[in-house]
Amino acid sequence: MKIRTNFSLKALNSLNVSAITPEIFFPTKLEELSELPQSKVAKSYILGEGSNTLFCQKNAPIIIKPSLVGIEVTESDECFQISAACAENWHDLVLFCVNNGIYGLENLALIPGSVGAAPVQNIGAYGVEVGDFIERITWFDFASKALIDFSKADCQFAYRNSIFKQALSGKGIITHVHFSLPKAWQAVNSYQGLSEIDLPITPQAIMAKVMQLRQAKLPEPKQLPNAGSFFKNPLVSVDFFAILQEKYPTIPFYKQANGEMKLAAGWLIEQAGLKGFREAGIGIHEKQALVLINYQGKSGQEIVAFARFIQEKVQAKFNVHLDPEVRFIGGDELNDIACLGSQK
Ligand SMILES: Cc1cc2nc3c(=O)[nH]c(=O)nc-3n(C[C@H](O)[C@H](O)[C@H](O)COP(=O)(O)OP(=O)(O)OC[C@H]3O[C@@H](n4cnc5c(N)ncnc54)[C@H](O)[C@@H]3O)c2cc1C
Repeated sequence: MKIRTNFSLKALNSLNVSAITPEIFFPTKLEELSELPQSKVAKSYILGEGSNTLFCQKNAPIIIKPSLVGIEVTESDECFQISAACAENWHDLVLFCVNNGIYGLENLALIPGSVGAAPVQNIGAYGVEVGDFIERITWFDFASKALIDFSKADCQFAYRNSIFKQALSGKGIITHVHFSLPKAWQAVNSYQGLSEIDLPITPQAIMAKVMQLRQAKLPEPKQLPNAGSFFKNPLVSVDFFAILQEKYPTIPFYKQANGEMKLAAGWLIEQAGLKGFREAGIGIHEKQALVLINYQGKSGQEIVAFARFIQEKVQAKFNVHLDPEVRFIGGDELNDIACLGSQK
């Protein structure tokens, strides 16, 4: 297995933050996972493509970068089953599927990152979440060194959340994701922007539109380092929402099945007067107020301070707390550090 010491992570995180790990492991085979030293895995961080990760400190923890690749396809009368290894690139998998007549993932085109990270925060866009299509997940458990299969129900998928981000965080590695994609395709095109697609609606047309919309409003991390949506859309109670709506009649909202109201974090940031705001080499994107950009290679700590400033402004105006969507990784910490406090 490839192992490197005192390794720079600058090229391995989309915010382009400087950080050094004392040791990084690149297992490429299932057998190599058992060779990871038990004393070290307990202190490690699992890194995919680093597009949802903020290294808060210059000194990063030990890193495991699972590097298993491969895609397998089987089919039944009703479904295609795709098994993809964790280090496959997510967008390449979407392209592979659509180009081979396997449909369902097209709304999730162009989301940066690896297949293995996709279930962790249950990636979602344009009305679809990856959990909708996951049948099971193969997991390497650090404690028992065994491979375990989790059913979709075991994964506890929720909005930008799953068991892998909660109880199982830091306890193992997603090695393979197994998808079930029905042959009877149903377009999901009710989301803003997709309803304008000309008839007949095809998966290819949805994918092209999604890519066009994303390219128009989301900055490419290689040119403008960012981690996509920096904050989650906050959930508030119906009663609290009624107070907000009286004061701000145009406030966008999405009613949730459990009765809560989801607010648009980008709108809140924009209304707080921060869209396009830029200070000391860090800023908020002019076209998308949810995206923070590290214009001048600033440190993780400086980005945390900037994010805290945004949180405070939104809190002061709306009395709503913004929780980060990005994973905050501390120096010697095993798991995320709650740099920005908790949601409720
Ligand atoms: C421009 C841009 C746009 C984005 N748009 C969206 C969007 O529309 N919707 C959306 O949901 N997200 C979006 N994101 C966020 C990001 O693309 C996703 O969170 C993606 O899944 C991160 O993949 P990654 O491999 O880069 O993860 P990393 O940042 O490397 O890791 C993220 C988390 O997954 C864990 N992890 C990674 N691999 C494994 C593994 N094999 N086993 C166990 N745990 C693992 C890490 O420990 C960490 O907790 C966007 C990001 C950018 C930069």
